[in-house]
Amino acid sequence: ATSPDVTQSFILKHEMPPLPSGSQWAVVWEYDASAEEWTRGMIAIQLESRPFASGALRSAYKLTTKMNPTLYTQAFYRDQHSQYEEGKKLNLRKLPRLFGPVDSTYVAKLSKTTVSFERYFEDVKMQMMCREYGIRYTANSPPKPVDFLSAWVIEVQADKGDHKLYGLEMYIDGEFKKLNSNFGSVFGDRNTPQSFSHFSYEASAHELIIVDIQGVDDHYTDPQIHTKDGEGFGAGNLGEKGMKKFIESHKCNPICIQLELPPIGIDLNDSRNMTRVIRGTMMLPDLKPDLDPKLDI
Ligand code: ATP
Ligand code: MG
Ligand code: ZN
Repeated sequence: ATSPDVTQSFILKHEMPPLPSGSQWAVVWEYDASAEEWTRGMIAIQLESRPFASGALRSAYKLTTKMNPTLYTQAFYRDQHSQYEEGKKLNLRKLPRLFGPVDSTYVAKLSKTTVSFERYFEDVKMQMMCREYGIRYTANSPPKPVDFLSAWVIEVQADKGDHKLYGLEMYIDGEFKKLNSNFGSVFGDRNTPQSFSHFSYEASAHELIIVDIQGVDDHYTDPQIHTKDGEGFGAGNLGEKGMKKFIESHKCNPICIQLELPPIGIDLNDSRNMTRVIRGTMMLPDLKPDLDPKLDI
């Protein structure tokens, strides 16, 4: 099968701890971006029945965890071949660090239209890959760290023995903002998101770029990757055309310069420009807030 198979058989096959009252079981899939591997576990959840928000494609529901997730198996869903295989090992271990404590609030995202199961796995994989780029960006000591929310796929039982998939991630309190689009638009005057997109382009040796930056402060979610060959990552992957749109609209800012990214949109061979960028007198979107972490916007 190209999509992982489902829950009930898993629950039946394994001895489960007692279900906390008022909750239901869900299978949770975690993606390890460096091993390119999916691992499956069980978690007790409470899922609200009405969405609290929605985007163009998905509705977002609040979800609370009622038990520490437990990982029962590993090495299942080898994504190079999009093949689902039962793992050889049967391990009982906690999901690593990524999950918050019991009773944490999460967001479960359900597609508004019928999409393949694969879509959910692809989206989570994309976000977890972006998370790795966020970690690499932050390792270069920019003024503010970038943190992509960890994401999972969960599988819950629905009516008539059916099951449903959702994307899952931590609920973030605060004002949710879109900071750039997948077609060259820039929203607001923050530097960090624009420099992060530029960073992803350089750090991948121009193989990809991460755009559609959105979230609360610099906790990002729901990104889009454009790849050089336009393959994978859903309909939002606009390939070279999307990359070109970013490059045409991007102007390097002081963070790009601090990170020594090859300049886009300004000629740094002209030493006057370098001075202007550093002094903040270059005609650029205003960047002060990102340079001084104490100043907030
Ligand atoms: P788009 O319209 O960008 O294609 P989408 O339909 O895929 O988006 P998301 O953007 O992931 O869906 O989520 C929809 C809405 O839910 C967001 O605009 C935001 O208001 C809210 N939301 C999403 N993720 C979170 C989160 N982690 N914490 C709090 N609110 C969130
Ligand atoms: Mg969105
Ligand atoms: Zn730049």
